[in-house]
Amino acid sequence: MPTTLTADAVRRSMINCSKGDAKRMTVVDAVVGTDLDAVEFAGWQDPRMPQRAYLVTLHEGAVTGVLLRPAGGGARRTAMCALCRTTHTDGEVTLYTAPRAGAAGREGNSVGTYVCTDLACPVTTRLERKPCPSVVPDLSLPVDERVAGLRVRVDGFLAAIRGTEDAARSSA
Ligand SMILES: [Zn+2]
Repeated sequence: MPTTLTADAVRRSMINCSKGDAKRMTVVDAVVGTDLDAVEFAGWQDPRMPQRAYLVTLHEGAVTGVLLRPAGGGARRTAMCALCRTTHTDGEVTLYTAPRAGAAGREGNSVGTYVCTDLACPVTTRLERKPCPSVVPDLSLPVDERVAGLRVRVDGFLAAIRGTEDAARSSA
């Protein structure tokens, strides 16, 4: 299976929104051509719909995309991304909520987690020093362990959205 993203592949990969939503989503140029064998995920905010962001990853061997909604209000100044464990001291961590896939999502169930607002965790994880005073990557671990941790936590987030979290845990 090709793991280099095309706009069509991204739209087809969405598991927690309607076909109409997938059709209307903006697949930004920077995402097209991303090789999911090389990065843990592609994440971006929809430039035309500020209440939408997306994360596309290789989950259990399949290109899998999810719609995320930024939760408004309650701005926290210093917070840590739950995926890449980078601490931001400037409020640039957002509580993103994802509708659950399938019937659970249609009933209004969602899963939320704090993530870097710019969804650039794969890039930030590979930094070897602070890129600016307000962004503090977890430099306590070697980069390969940081990358492996990010992979595990993204998979866990996707499993929670799909509702296969318990199965994933018991087989881990
Ligand atoms: Zn992050």
